Amino acid sequence: MTHDQGLVNAWIGFGANLGDPQKAIQSALRSLVSTSGTSVTAVSSFYRTAPVGFDDQPDFLNGVARIKTNLDSGVLLGRLLEIEAEIGRIRTSERFGPRVIDLDLLLFGDQIIDSDVLTVPHPRMQLRRFVLEPLAEIEGEMVFPGGITLSACLKDCENQEVTREGVIDFLGAN
Ligand code: ADP
Ligand code: MG
Repeated sequence: MTHDQGLVNAWIGFGANLGDPQKAIQSALRSLVSTSGTSVTAVSSFYRTAPVGFDDQPDFLNGVARIKTNLDSGVLLGRLLEIEAEIGRIRTSERFGPRVIDLDLLLFGDQIIDSDVLTVPHPRMQLRRFVLEPLAEIEGEMVFPGGITLSACLKDCENQEVTREGVIDFLGAN
């Protein structure tokens, strides 16, 4: 069971490719740490991924964090969108510009959620090596709701190129 006195393990995927991606991800992690009822219990390395299709875009930095939270899944999603907006605002100065951080709720305990605003497990996570690789780094093997394993999903997308970059020092950075 993933429930422990109302606490649930959840996995957040993050990605950024505009502005200063490393700073944006560090900032998002600090915001997660300061979220009420929530602690960050594991963080993967950064992974660099070349954008598919659009060659004139900068590479993406991606990673995954495990959190333990007493927030409801809808409240947690709201908080993730709020953090995206806060960081986007900082990075684009006065002008409203493109988002510089994407935060996805990958897994919420072993729950399957399908509402108008939230689909969990995240619908594309099982197809993306830049999600699966950092997830495997922090968890080893996992069985996703529905029964498919992380290693089976990874095997199916091993032709996607992803480079491990290094550890994320988010507490010391600013
Ligand atoms: P994507 O991450 O697929 O590129 P966006 O970040 O632009 O797309 O999509 C954000 C919207 O997706 C949110 O407003 C949210 O309602 C919806 N959404 C549905 N399921 C999830 C999920 N598991 N994690 C994050 N957002 C989700
Ligand atoms: Mg998103």
